[in-house]
Amino acid sequence: QSNKVEVVVFSAPSYACKRRTTLKNHNTLLTEALSILAESAELNEDEGRGVAFRRAAAVLKCLPKAVSSMEQLRGLPCLGDHSMRVIKDILENGASSEAESTKQSERFKALKVLTGIFGVGAKTADRWFREGIHSLSQLQESGHTLNQAQQAGLQFYDDINLPVSKTEADAISEIVEKAVHAVLPGAEITLTGGFRRGKLTGHDVDFLITHPEEGKEEGLMPKVVSWLESQGFLLYQKTTRNSYLESKDGPGRPASNMDRFERCLSIFKLTKDRCVGQKQGTKQSATPIESHVKTVCSLGDPTQAKGEGNSESLTGSCQKTEPNPQSHPHPLSQIHPSNLTLNVLGQEKSLDVDQAQTSGHKPWRAVRVDLVVSPVSQFAFALLGWTGSKLFERELRRWAGHEKAMSLSSHALYDNKQSRYLRASSEEEIFAHLGLEYIPPTERNA
Ligand code: ATP
Ligand code: MN
Ligand code: MN
Repeated sequence: QSNKVEVVVFSAPSYACKRRTTLKNHNTLLTEALSILAESAELNEDEGRGVAFRRAAAVLKCLPKAVSSMEQLRGLPCLGDHSMRVIKDILENGASSEAESTKQSERFKALKVLTGIFGVGAKTADRWFREGIHSLSQLQESGHTLNQAQQAGLQFYDDINLPVSKTEADAISEIVEKAVHAVLPGAEITLTGGFRRGKLTGHDVDFLITHPEEGKEEGLMPKVVSWLESQGFLLYQKTTRNSYLESKDGPGRPASNMDRFERCLSIFKLTKDRCVGQKQGTKQSATPIESHVKTVCSLGDPTQAKGEGNSESLTGSCQKTEPNPQSHPHPLSQIHPSNLTLNVLGQEKSLDVDQAQTSGHKPWRAVRVDLVVSPVSQFAFALLGWTGSKLFERELRRWAGHEKAMSLSSHALYDNKQSRYLRASSEEEIFAHLGLEYIPPTERNA
């Protein structure tokens, strides 16, 4: 007779796009440590290492129970030696010494702060770090020339690094719907990204816009942006036009996972009465938007708020009622006096921290919003591509390429064996083309 205790040995498919990953995570201690290491690798521009840690974290996210011993992991894919050492450390000692020391390292902390600026990626942050710039105040003092995205990123730093709630996302949805319908009745707006996957918070709000009649969506973005700007909803925006048809590598095969839709990366100004304490399900009424517009207008001239580097007009509409934010320490407060000077494209511009930064008392907050316009013929691909998660998307493309000899993008699916595009008008059809069981958005949280 054996004394052996039965251990639950986990198993899972090796492609994340074959797994159902809900937001219920039974292994947060493990996945958070692996995510730190992934993030650190990404900040060091070591993509391979980053993906390896992301895959390891993702496989643990889909387990039905907490891992309690190393033997349980025997049957799992995606767990390399390094990830296994990290897991072992946590199971034995309650924490990963590597993840902990990474989190505490000067470099990691500095790169996190710097990439927290909208418009600053790993490359720029690394260059600054090597110049001795480890904080926002040091960046300010350096006299570096910042582009307009980065200026806005610095100006709204605290707000942008504050998670966006679902309630706030719904409020933004109403505004976007109003804008789109004002310039193109019949257009359809879909919330994508993390919120479509059921997340309760996000770093931004993502929308996909189309029109049931092919071609009607052309030129839509500039009109939507103009409308939003005229109503004072935009603090910053950068619109990129559709480059799909002009590209050399043909539809369906973009050079990278970057798609070529007409898109707008923006920062919205959301008034607080719209983002706190608002009950959901009040969608049909247009009144809240009207009153919002009025509120914004009553504070000043919101049409001035264009985020074009003119920080005085940017903050001018709201500043008079601002209490002093000093009670809340924030990354810029250390540099303080309230007027900072930034060397912007060779010009001296003043950045008023008191207004620019989240006092927590100002009647609005800045929210990052991504808008994408797709022709209806590509809508299903765009929807699938913009719903995420990023790892889920990556794995879908890997599956398509390696297992099916197909190329998947946010525009199309190309079958390399049949040398033709496979059409689809729903996500379900795309999964079917790929020979995959359909995974709904809420189970794509890999
Ligand atoms: P969060 O809640 O933090 O915003 P998210 O999943 O919504 O998480 P995003 O960075 O907003 O993350 O990206 C949403 C989706 O859009 C992802 O699936 C990503 O692959 C896709 N995406 C983001 N940027 C691009 C881009 N430049 N080109 C193509 N797809 C993109
Ligand atoms: Mn998002
Ligand atoms: Mn986004």
